Formats: sequence, structure tokens, C-alpha cells
Amino acid sequence: MEGLMKGKRGLVMGVANDHSIAWGIAKQLHAHGAEMAFTYQGEAFGRRVKPLADQVNASLILPCDVEDSASVTSVFETLGNEWGGLDFVVHAIGFSDKNELKGLYANTTRENFIRTMVISCYSFTEVARNAAGLMKDGGSMLTLTYAGSTRVMPNYNVMGVAKAGLEASVRYLADDYGPRGIRVNAISAGPVRTLAGAGISDARFMFSYQQRNSPLRRTVTLDEVGGSALYLLSDLSSGVTGEIHYVDSGYHIVSMPTLDELKQ
Ligand code: NAD
Repeated sequence: MEGLMKGKRGLVMGVANDHSIAWGIAKQLHAHGAEMAFTYQGEAFGRRVKPLADQVNASLILPCDVEDSASVTSVFETLGNEWGGLDFVVHAIGFSDKNELKGLYANTTRENFIRTMVISCYSFTEVARNAAGLMKDGGSMLTLTYAGSTRVMPNYNVMGVAKAGLEASVRYLADDYGPRGIRVNAISAGPVRTLAGAGISDARFMFSYQQRNSPLRRTVTLDEVGGSALYLLSDLSSGVTGEIHYVDSGYHIVSMPTLDELKQ
């Protein structure tokens, strides 16, 4: 098991700090022998990401702002020059104006709708296209989504719409690249306390509600999301593509609060 990712090289996008889901994934990949490159968004994040990248012996640490196509292209040019190929990519990137992650979805502005879509949805397609150019011998791509894509979650608003588009992108990209042996999947994670998660108004109530009402009666850990990512990025899941894999303590299967909750 330890050598599951031995000989595989991949890019991890979206580490902001040691609470990031991408960091949970990177730790598991490192433990199983993967060689990684990291991207970071701007110098302020870079200062926090570099020591983490060192902990997992990342070979490359590159700046990337997905709002700028040239910045995305430049990352893959560097990977092409340094590595000549790529086995996997992790896209754990999302953003929306926190002033619109509260109140009515109907009040979403055109400007923030477009920005949220570009960063949280389109960027995965652009990353996938660039990554596929370097995947000569099959590969695995992974993005992160949330159940607010298919069901209404308070305050998740335009992020839910972006995640619905992201999940549809996973299916279309899986079909585009399947003939080349490249697999494309998403993990739909339950709530995790991260920087991005803190942008959603009243997120702590969703967190504690899911702790009480999911089948496992708890939320998930970074290591658990990382473990599922390891499966999807390794050859263990070689027959799996176009999948939205829930890592949420089973919360997505329940239709009502527990009786304990209702009787309180
Ligand atoms: P995080 O804040 O640690 O990570 C978000 C990352 O997005 C950061 O590294 C940030 O730099 C990056 N980012 C934002 N705008 C960018 C841009 N323009 N260019 C490049 N990078 C940019 O939070 P996280 O919760 O680990 O988020 C990772 C992914 O997981 C997101 O897609 C998020 O929607 C998803 N997710 C989070 C949860 C949760 O509860 N935290 C649940 C399900 C899915």
C-alpha cells in the first residue's frame, strides 16, 4: 500500500494553509510515494505554502491565479519543461464574495456570479485541458465539490450554482478524455473548517447540524478526504470516472433530522 503512488508525478492546486483540503490530500499522496508540484495564489499565500510544500518534498512551487489564463498556461509550461509529463492533478479551488454567501441567492450580482463561475467552475476545465496535454499515458484528475450543488444549503447560494456546473464539467471532461485513459472525478466533501468554508455565513451551524444528523454522527477529517482522494488518484480506482464521490459521513443519504434532534 505504501508505494501506491510511487513513480507518479502530479500537481496539487489549492493549498492555502494546513487546514486546506488540498493539504489533507497532499499529505496522503506523499505518504504513498507521489512526487508533487504545488501552486499558490499570490505571495501572501506563498509564504504559508512554501514550508508545507517542503514538508512533503514538493519539487516545484509555482504561483497561479486561475482568473488569469496566462498564469494557468505558464504552470503547465513549467511542468512540461521540468517533468515532460504528468500523472495526476488535484484542483481544490473555490471563491465567491462572502457578502453574497448570505441572504437570498436571488440577490447575487452579475459581477460576482461571473467571478465565482470563472474561479470555482471554469478553472477546472482550463486546468484539465492543460493537464491532459501532458498526460501521455493516462492520468487522473480530481476536483472538490459540495452537496449544495444539488440541494439547497442556507447561504451557499452562487457557490451551489458553480458547484452544479463543476459537477457537470466532471462528467463532460470524463467523456472527453476517457478514450485516452484519463479519468476525471470529484469528491463531494462534508463541511470542513477551512478559510474558504469560513466565508459562508453561519457555516458553524451547518457544521454542527451535520455532526448530529449524518449517519456517522460526525463530520469528516482532512485525512479521510485525503484517503478517498488517494483512491481516486491511484490505480486502485482504474475503472472509475465521471464520479461524484461523497465523503461526508453519509449526510447526503438522509432525508430528515434524527429522531433525537426532532424530540429535543
Ligand atoms: P481553502 O481556503 O483552504 O482553499 C481554497 C483555495 O482556493 C485556496 O488555496 C485559495 O488560494 C484558492 N483560490 C481561490 N481563488 C483562487 C484563484 N483566483 N486562483 C488560484 N487559487 C485560488 O478552503 P478548502 O475548503 O480547502 O477549499 C478547497 C475546495 O474544497 C474548494 O473548491 C471548496 O469549495 C471545496 N469544498 C470545501 C468544503 C469545506 O467545507 N471546506 C466542503 C466541500 C468542498
